[in-house]
Amino acid sequence: MATLVSDPLVSRRTADFVSQDHRIYIDGRFVAAASGKTFPVYNPATGDVITHVPEAEEEDVNRAVLAARRAFDDGPWTRMSPSGRGRLLWKLGDLLEQHLEEFAEIESLDNGKPFSVARVADVPLAVDMFRYMAGWATKISGKTLPLSSGYDFHSYTLREPIGVVAQIIPWNFPLLMAAWKLAPALACGCTVILKLAEQTPLSGLRLAQLIDEAGFPPGVVNILTGYGEGVGAPLAAHNLVDKVAFTGSTEVGKLIIRAAAGNLKKVSLELGGKSPVLVFPDANIDEAISGTSSAIFFNHGQCCCAGSRLYVHEKVFDRVVEGVSHVASDIRLAPGLDPSCQMGPLVSEEQYQKVVSYIESGIAEGANIAAGGPVSGVERGYFVRPTVLTNTNPRMKVVQEEIFGPVVCAVPFTDEDLERIIKRANDTVYGLAASVWTQNVSLAHKVARGLRAGTVWVNCHNVFDASLPFGGYKQSGWGREMGEEVLHNYTELKAVTVAL
Ligand code: NAP
Ligand code: MG
Repeated sequence: MATLVSDPLVSRRTADFVSQDHRIYIDGRFVAAASGKTFPVYNPATGDVITHVPEAEEEDVNRAVLAARRAFDDGPWTRMSPSGRGRLLWKLGDLLEQHLEEFAEIESLDNGKPFSVARVADVPLAVDMFRYMAGWATKISGKTLPLSSGYDFHSYTLREPIGVVAQIIPWNFPLLMAAWKLAPALACGCTVILKLAEQTPLSGLRLAQLIDEAGFPPGVVNILTGYGEGVGAPLAAHNLVDKVAFTGSTEVGKLIIRAAAGNLKKVSLELGGKSPVLVFPDANIDEAISGTSSAIFFNHGQCCCAGSRLYVHEKVFDRVVEGVSHVASDIRLAPGLDPSCQMGPLVSEEQYQKVVSYIESGIAEGANIAAGGPVSGVERGYFVRPTVLTNTNPRMKVVQEEIFGPVVCAVPFTDEDLERIIKRANDTVYGLAASVWTQNVSLAHKVARGLRAGTVWVNCHNVFDASLPFGGYKQSGWGREMGEEVLHNYTELKAVTVAL
């Protein structure tokens, strides 16, 4: 195991945290896995093992579910006032903000993303999410409803917490995904078992310490590290879990649905994407070049809404492709904690192999490389050069499948009618996001209406806010995260009717 203490890029504080004896968090206590097993955590910039974390399994899942069940059925959580829950969420947001730099460093080390990005994006957005949802805790309400039946009744609805929620998250935004999941569930009055991604467990384990410090009652939040099969699958199948909320691949999303069928627990899913980006000839081309570049290269393309299919009008195609290729070639690859880093390594060796083999399959199927390619030139770590592919066709794997890496397929379109352009953008099983680049207001709104996607950005991409609902059409998911809409993921609606 590499000693982080001697790594000049890693602060003493983070080296101490990372090398501590890690514990999972069940019923308000930090404990080892029942089996005593652990698994390794890697630094993707070097490939070195930096620590080990508990490998939870079914017995730990059962303990966590029973703790969450007790905290929901008999515990103080359901008796706590909405403003009490809101205050705890706000306090957690404050604690997180006080440790902003520390979390950004942990995230960069564990996931590979630039520290400078985690500091201004991942951690502040997570803080915002806890604060935004703290506000909702006191505003979850039903309605009074006039009946048409002619009798004298008084009817109203109550919006109540759904119960015990299992939450399973991926590795691309480890802390932020934890916040997107935990904050609304807790605001609604649910209790939670959160499973962190095996590749990136560290920020979630540090967050467990802050949750404990904030004073959430035991059992309200339980946090487990482990594998999909050992923790995720038994959580999704568990009879005492009322709801499972999942973010990850469409393939595993389908497994979750099957596992949930046993007790018909409620399911929400935030899955993959192959998001189209449409550049019209009247767009501000310089802005479109930098915006569409960051649409695909932000977070190394490891975003479910990455703008991975770039459709550009033929009049400006060469200029845009040249511009995006320049941006790609200028990006400096370095470890996330290196101050000069503009793009870090991909999260894992597996992800690295997957992305490189997609680039190779594109070449084999006849695509041209305008920038990047399968060889990064970096000796150690899971680095992939930002890559621009041209001369693709709609049936190629690189155009159809989610690559989840910094690889974009650029495709020209002509002055054909708008419907055909929109049809091409919609030619995917996914429907998560899209962006449109034009100065023509009418065109922008027409395209926004035509796209079958949960999010459409105009002259921007990757703009997120706790107030904006986010989720997928088609095979990109079920339900919405964030905004007022996410409250529906974690509540049941009860109609009460009183004869007067
Ligand atoms: P994944 O396998 O779907 O993992 C997401 C989460 O589900 C992880 O916590 C994973 O555990 C867990 N999981 C795996 N198998 C499970 C099962 N049978 N039952 C319940 N939970 C299970 O995604 P991945 O392996 O990290 O990445 C694979 C691909 O998914 C990526 O290349 C990308 O295309 C896509 N992806 C999409 C998103 C998104 O935001 N939509 C995020 C990440 C990845 P482990 O930690 O043990 O894997
Ligand atoms: Mg996996």
